[in-house]
Amino acid sequence: MKLAVLRERDPEEPRVAATPDTIKRYRGLGFEVSVESGAGRGSGLSDADFETAGAVVVPQAVAGADAILGVRRPDASALAGCRGGAVVAALMDPFGHEAALSELAKTGIVAFAMELIPRITRAQAMDALSSQANLAGYRAVIDASYEFGRALPMMMTAAGTVPAARTFIMGAGVAGLQAIATARRLGAIVTATDVRPAAKEQVESLGAKFIAVEDEEFRQAETAAGYAKEMSKDYQAKQAALVAEHIKRQDIVITTALIPGRPAPRLISAAMVHAMRPGSVIVDLAVERGGNCELAKPGEVALIDGVKIVGHLNVPGRIAATASSLYAKNLYALLEILVDKSAKSLAIQWDDEIVKATALTRDGAIIHPSFQPKTAA
Ligand code: NAD
Repeated sequence: MKLAVLRERDPEEPRVAATPDTIKRYRGLGFEVSVESGAGRGSGLSDADFETAGAVVVPQAVAGADAILGVRRPDASALAGCRGGAVVAALMDPFGHEAALSELAKTGIVAFAMELIPRITRAQAMDALSSQANLAGYRAVIDASYEFGRALPMMMTAAGTVPAARTFIMGAGVAGLQAIATARRLGAIVTATDVRPAAKEQVESLGAKFIAVEDEEFRQAETAAGYAKEMSKDYQAKQAALVAEHIKRQDIVITTALIPGRPAPRLISAAMVHAMRPGSVIVDLAVERGGNCELAKPGEVALIDGVKIVGHLNVPGRIAATASSLYAKNLYALLEILVDKSAKSLAIQWDDEIVKATALTRDGAIIHPSFQPKTAA
């Protein structure tokens, strides 16, 4: 079996889909591994590191590969010369990109979307959304403290007492919970909100105060998959009133709220930003999905009335070496179930729950029910 590790073509993507550690494991599974030269540079890994782990480093690795690993969805040029039926696993960003998926299907590959890994116990080690969101939550607090002109912990010094920073985390999923834990470790006073009732106990167990509109709709807000629903206009108005009051007194606000397959919910209006004190910082982790804050600008740190609004893109990529090491392990865990270990060959179980949830394309067509091309009426 042959495995190819792509060099990311997007210059904004410093992560890599394999590490020396996972390459050794793939070799144990029976793979010969080729890594495209320079693939690890953005994550502090040299070609020699991959070679020492037993990989061959080449300019283009896909020819003849049975499995191809990437961080972002590869385009046709990155896959040029790959064989039909090859498995390609990456963060395929499938929602709203059906045309790109059709192009991918035409290459004849079997595409697996790492963001569609189901949240079941057996698939936890493959859960790339969680591994990357956790690091984004951590990094958001580091970025906020970097932009904030004050200290986060309370300090009692001979020269006077410095108050602890008030930090509000909006959205208490994987990223939000790590942001809470990180801000607490740095000594901030932390409050958090979410629309899912299960979040309340998790927030409180991390030592933060939970703030939310806890009505009947809130009690029903979690889907069977554990995600949030889009809330009604009425709920959104009540939530906005609560947030407007709370946010005025905050030094740092970190927003992480997402709804799968939908634009990010708008939680911070321009008026709320104007009501914040100069020197405050907002970090919008949802900026790539439309933003939780009306004034966030993708890829920029905007300054509005003295309030900094941080809209960094690809926040897991801002902690690339760690993000790559976890993402590479997520990929390995998936590949492991696609291989027949005794025959040392690919053996995809098409009726496996994880395969059904993540496989997008096969034999030239999109097979995932959620991403069928719209047929002309
Ligand atoms: P996500 O990234 O889709 O959303 C982030 C958070 O934003 C969620 O907590 C969501 O409830 C919240 N949100 C959405 N709309 C909001 C609004 N209007 N106001 C405030 N908050 C809003 O979610 P996620 O981080 O991927 O996690 C969702 C859930 O799945 C969590 O409970 C998490 O613990 C759980 N989870 C389970 C597993 C597993 O069982 N294997 C793995 C990972 C996550």
